[in-house]
Amino acid sequence: MSDKVTKSDAEWRAALTPEQYEVMREKGTEHAFTGQYWNTKTPGTYVCAGCGQPLFDSNTKFDSGTGWPSFYAPIAESNVATESDRAYGMVRTEALCGKCHAHLGHVFDDGPKPTGLRYCMNSASLKLEPKE
Ligand code: FE
Repeated sequence: MSDKVTKSDAEWRAALTPEQYEVMREKGTEHAFTGQYWNTKTPGTYVCAGCGQPLFDSNTKFDSGTGWPSFYAPIAESNVATESDRAYGMVRTEALCGKCHAHLGHVFDDGPKPTGLRYCMNSASLKLEPKE
């Protein structure tokens, strides 16, 4: 349905900042409490910093205490893809942009109601579009 965005490695390097590239294309993790959005309360829509796909609504953002922007649900199930991630000897669920396959962060099952999920995201993968 939604068209996938595919770019070469060189194109992504040119389009993203070095920090965004490391997180989004090399599955890096920004340091806690350092990202742009971990403590942001501004109403709006968080879109993918790589392709602009809407990912999370600010009304599902909650204070997880982790130092990363955290949400209990994506804006639409199809917009955020998940995959099993077995890196570093852990089994985790990786969250990716459904459109450009950028790494966003991980999903944990210790979130608040109504979903019980915690989408633990990197600010570097997100761009907040404030409500008008
Ligand atoms: Fe994307």
